[in-house]
Amino acid sequence: MDIFEYLEDIVAFFQLPIWGYLIRGVIFITIIIWLAFVYWTYRDARLRNTSAVFWALVVLVFNYLGLIIYLILRPPEYIDDVVERELEIRRMDKLLSAKSDSCPACGKGIEEDFLICPHCRKKLKNSCINCAKPLALDWKVCPYCKVTQ
Ligand SMILES: [Zn+2]
Ligand SMILES: [Zn+2]
Repeated sequence: MDIFEYLEDIVAFFQLPIWGYLIRGVIFITIIIWLAFVYWTYRDARLRNTSAVFWALVVLVFNYLGLIIYLILRPPEYIDDVVERELEIRRMDKLLSAKSDSCPACGKGIEEDFLICPHCRKKLKNSCINCAKPLALDWKVCPYCKVTQ
């Protein structure tokens, strides 16, 4: 077999239609992955409450490079996390403020188990005739010892 025949074989090998299919397949997969990157970036950016369309376009134009830039620059937490944390803080605030009530007459701070306001002497609670626990003024029976008032 002389060298030209050998070269012809190589050329013939690369002219097989399978190469065309393979290249088209690789291009197809690359486009799919590319679009998946764009979609993922759009969704992630929206969850993080940052400009989703802008970042999707950046990834669409720069592909891997755009994705890396986005991963570096994106806000560190999801918007849901931020909302969740703010709700938690508000809940804690409510609990704390509920603990320190204020007198209905003078508005000054009182504790939950005060029987009388120390500032204006307004009667706040009754004490149970049996166990002396503080009871709301309209309670008919003590919830601690079950004795009728
Ligand atoms: Zn008062
Ligand atoms: Zn009682």
